[in-house]
Order: sequence, then structure tokens, then C-alpha cells
Amino acid sequence: MVDILVGPTQKLHRVHKDKLCAKAAYFSNLFNDTTTFPPDSDLIPTVSFPDEAPSTFAIFLSWIYENHLPPLKPNKDRSKHHGWTWDVYDVYVLGQTLDLPVLQDLAMDALREAQRNYHQLHALSTIRDVFPRLKDRCAMQRYIGHSLLKAILAADTKKYEELYPTKEIVECLGADERLLGLVVRYFRGMEGRGMKEPRFVVGSLACQYHDHGEKGKCPNMGDGEAGERK
Ligand SMILES: [Zn+2]
Repeated sequence: MVDILVGPTQKLHRVHKDKLCAKAAYFSNLFNDTTTFPPDSDLIPTVSFPDEAPSTFAIFLSWIYENHLPPLKPNKDRSKHHGWTWDVYDVYVLGQTLDLPVLQDLAMDALREAQRNYHQLHALSTIRDVFPRLKDRCAMQRYIGHSLLKAILAADTKKYEELYPTKEIVECLGADERLLGLVVRYFRGMEGRGMKEPRFVVGSLACQYHDHGEKGKCPNMGDGEAGERK
């Protein structure tokens, strides 16, 4: 077993080392470093993630043990977990930190499916919070950029003006040069008006909202690690 201390209160998670290391190379590299963790030591190997939210880490562990993510539903308290029962955006960012495209892809699928089923879009406050933490050219960045572009293009309808007031879109874009650059790039390219509503893109086209790349396994193909649901 290994001990992982999470968040400012150092919440303890005692985890099966084999399971953790089999799924996440980050942890196998860490715990198999014999300088830091001598194999003949009697102490339980311990690492700390002081900046990670314990609830996000718990979702990560449920994936380690169960191979899938829990159902994602709107939170009654819209201020919690970016409006969801667990913070799918933070799980995605944790996937980036630990270099786990499989987890990122599952988070993306969960988010798109839940947004589709519950008729939700990203709140502008969520975009402002999440976007700066994303790596360039990742699937979540593309998804948020496409979603925002669609909302801007539809801003002449009353519904969208209520949800995404023009003034707040301007403030959101003005606060983040990278986001502004991305949206302008999408405006100029083929990804503008002809683009499908990103929540409803299915089949192989949906892989534009995945991070598995050409050599990786798509969670929707069934034979991948993530597809081994029982
Ligand atoms: Zn895919």
C-alpha cells in the first residue's frame, strides 16, 4: 500500500500501489524511484498533493479501482464543482497533470454527455476559471473554444443573450488573451459557422474532443483499457 495526502488538510488515502502504478505511469515512476523510496524501508511510501481538492482526487481513485467515472449530474448547489455533482473540469486538469489521456477522455465524454442530457452549457465563470489551467491544443480547450464560438454566433437569440450576455463575453475574452486568440482563430477558419454544436458531435468526429491521439485508444472503441467495463 501507499499513502497519499491530499489537499490543505492532508486527507489520507491509503491506496493499493499495484493498482495505482498499473494505471498511472506518474505513480509507478514516483514509487519505483529507489532513492526516494528505498525498497527495504519499513515505512509506507507517502506522497502529498497539497493543492489538489480531496473530492477530485476521490473521483480519480474511483477510476483507478473501478475503471470508469461516476455518473455526472447537475448539482443543486450551482456554486459547487462548477455546477456538477463532481468537478469534471478539475478531474480533466488532474488527468493532464498526471499525463492520463484515458482519464481526460472519460472526463470529456462525461461532460459532453451530461451537458447534452441536462441541456447545460459552460458558465462563463467556469470558462474563466478553467481555461487558464489547460494545456494548449488539448481537447478541453478545443471544446470550450468551440462551445463559446457557437454561443457567440447565436448571441442574437434572446435565450443566448440571457445565458451569455454580450458584455460578459467581452469581459471573459478580454481577461484571457489565449482564449481570445483561440476564438478568433476558430472564427477565421473552417471551424466557424459550419461547425456542429460541440455537445452533439458523435462517432469518429467526437475524437476531436479526445486526447488519445492517433496511437492511443478511444474510450468509445470498446477494446481499450477504458472500454473494459463489466
Ligand atoms: Zn476518440
